[in-house]
Order: sequence, then C-alpha cells, then structure tokens
Amino acid sequence: MTLHDAYDPDNIFAKILSGDMPSVKVFEDDVALAFMDVFPQAEGHTLIIPKDVAARNFLDMPTERLGAYMERVQTVARAVEKALTPDGLVVTQFNGAPAGQTVFHLHFHVLPRWQGQGVRGHADGQMADMTALEALAQKIRPFVA
Ligand code: 5GP
Repeated sequence: MTLHDAYDPDNIFAKILSGDMPSVKVFEDDVALAFMDVFPQAEGHTLIIPKDVAARNFLDMPTERLGAYMERVQTVARAVEKALTPDGLVVTQFNGAPAGQTVFHLHFHVLPRWQGQGVRGHADGQMADMTALEALAQKIRPFVA
C-alpha cells in the first residue's frame, strides 16, 4: 500500500458518509462531516472528513476543495474547544500506513488535551460507550450550529 493507491470506495468513512455505517455526528454540510471517534484517544476526540471527494489523504485532496474543507476543520476545532474547554487541542492528520494512517479517506483529528492528563495512543483507543459519545456530541453541536 502506497501513498498513491486507488481510493477504496468501501472504506469505513465512505460507509459512514453513505449512511451504511452509523456514526455520532456533530456537524454536517455539503463540504464535510464531523463525528466522534469511536476509539477515542481522549474525551471529545472528533474527526472531520471531506464529502464528495475520493481523497485517501491530504496529498490527494484537490487544492481547490481544500480551503472550504479546512474552514470546517477549524469550525469543529473551535466548537470542541468551546464545548469542552480543554487546556490544549491537537489537530492532526496522517498520510499512509507507515505514518500511522489506518482509514484511507482523508480526515483530520481534533483531540482535546487537559493539563496533567495523558492520552491513549493513536489507533490504540478502546471502543467508546455510544451513550457517552452522544452526550459529548450534544455538548459540541450547539457551537457549530
Ligand atoms: P487514522 O489512523 O487513519 O489517522 O485515523 C482513523 C481514526 O478513525 C482512528 O482514530 C480510529 O479510532 C477511528 N475509527 C476507526 N474506525 C471507526 C469507525 O467505525 N467509526 C468511527 N467513528 N471512528 C473510527
């Protein structure tokens, strides 16, 4: 698997976009969808994915679509910050399996951090309780509306 393999339309995030897989959504418009990471590294771990684009990673994303998508990434990051008032916020993104990418549809992670609290490792989280994820999403949603 390389950085430039073909986009797999059956990847898990494509299924979330099509509605074939459930997700706990916090934001959606015609450009992007944001939802809670089901294996969160920390409370409030949120993912933002672009819609209607076969981009495996950041390198694949059509440049003319990037600006609108990144605006949504910032909107969601700001909403997570307002809703959960963390002391810090990691906004990150991985390209290719050797870099840590495990799902091959472009996405940014928004990961709240609190002083003195660790985080679980990337792709090392335990599956979250759906009720707890929904409660977090309910806190975040009003700030992206
Ligand atoms: P990557 O490793 O590609 O940067 O990030 C993929 C992220 O997707 C991981 O943080 C992982 O926990 C999350 N993830 C994997 N499968 C699912 C899923 O089915 N639903 C949700 N909501 N998140 C997922």
